[in-house]
Amino acid sequence: MLSFDPSWTRDLPGTFLRDAPFRAPAPRYVALNLPLARDLGLDAGDLSAHPEWFAGQPPQGAEPVALAYAGHQFGNFVPSLGDGRAHLLGEILTPLGRRDLALKGSGRTPFSRGGDGRAALGPMLREYLVSEAMAAMGVPTTRSLAVVATGEVILRQEGPLPGAVLVRVAASHIRVGSFEFLSARGEEDKLRALLAHAITRHDPDLAPDDALGFFDRVTGRQVRLIAEWMGLGFVHGVMNTDNMALSGETIDYGPCAFVDAYDPGAVFSSIDRRGRYRLENQPKILAWNLARLAETLIPLIPGATETVVGLLNDRLEAIAPAYEAAFLAVMARKLALPAPDAALTEGFLKAVEGLDWTASLRSLAGEPGVYPGLRGWLTEWQKFRLPDYATRIRAANPAVIPRNHLVEEALTAATRGDMAPFEALLAVCRKPFDDAPERFTLPPPTGFGPYVTYCGT
Ligand code: AMP
Ligand code: MG
Ligand code: MG
Repeated sequence: MLSFDPSWTRDLPGTFLRDAPFRAPAPRYVALNLPLARDLGLDAGDLSAHPEWFAGQPPQGAEPVALAYAGHQFGNFVPSLGDGRAHLLGEILTPLGRRDLALKGSGRTPFSRGGDGRAALGPMLREYLVSEAMAAMGVPTTRSLAVVATGEVILRQEGPLPGAVLVRVAASHIRVGSFEFLSARGEEDKLRALLAHAITRHDPDLAPDDALGFFDRVTGRQVRLIAEWMGLGFVHGVMNTDNMALSGETIDYGPCAFVDAYDPGAVFSSIDRRGRYRLENQPKILAWNLARLAETLIPLIPGATETVVGLLNDRLEAIAPAYEAAFLAVMARKLALPAPDAALTEGFLKAVEGLDWTASLRSLAGEPGVYPGLRGWLTEWQKFRLPDYATRIRAANPAVIPRNHLVEEALTAATRGDMAPFEALLAVCRKPFDDAPERFTLPPPTGFGPYVTYCGT
């Protein structure tokens, strides 16, 4: 029922290693995304019967590999990272198009270095929950098909924890770091093959060698993506170049979090000590990461190096204004304005500082409890907002996001074996624009936080 159609392994020798996922002692679904399975044309019954497919006994036709990639981690180049605890099972052809079916937490690979190749249940459920919430909010993202508990106990700083595997569905796993890997090795032919592969998958209307055209497409997708994140107060937390997918999907939900009270300096990740990936810096990091991609494309663009660099530099300089326009467009939608408006947006950002981002925006629909701090700005906004603003506000601003205190509560319970809070939270996150019980929409109780997240657990 799962029928694989490999293109990465066919097109791109030298960019992966064949490797088997570890065989879990007692695979069992903890979460299975039946609505997604249906959208992918997968048989729910077959899927439900075979958790072991994703825990060390891959279905027929799967040829699991660990992908090679490089990456700039917190600004430092690491030439050989690769999947240290992940496997690409293969690609499947679905009604949504070609999709990677991949595992995370699936065991050691030749790229594991000191790591155990494992993942704990909590972080895999976090990715499942937040990626499903993002999808429901209309943000491009990789999807989560399942979380399979392995039956293993793994050792982490917090103590022994249940192990798990996430089954991820992605338009592709081509990252900035995939290009950096081949570029750093000077493998120009392979780089050309990667470009053609990426264009076939994401921009098939382009000529397979159109590096500049491809760069523009990637830039457009990423600009829109980061603008959507910023509209939601989403802090990815680890925007290393290996975690930026050229499909334009959000990928790798390790240390991510949403702001409650709006703070442009918000940073949650325990290892981001200098705030490189803080909320307000994400658009700058976007441009920085795209500059790293641009560098890898230089040999693929015809013309004298100087001319090619000039062309790329022009594009890099255009990213900041393109982002600004995209963000103002997102905010115009969220504020129910007839057109993007820099002054009103700036005014809102000032007024909302320290107030709950999500609840403040939603309250503009006129529900009781408009935040007093917004009062001054409101009189200005009232002059410009569209007549049907209330409907627009409710359609553009979620009532429910996966709030940190609720995520924490759900993951803690799940780790103890109680899935009820996770399921309740997932259910409301799947309908984020509907009204929901107050416990899901209110800001965190006083005394919660500061919230700290961890990667790679
Ligand atoms: P991430 O921060 O999740 O994007 O991962 C960065 C790199 O560390 C990737 O190469 C991962 O495969 C690797 N990695 C993270 N956790 C582990 C682990 N427990 N075992 C082996 N490799 C890991
Ligand atoms: Mg292995
Ligand atoms: Mg990663």
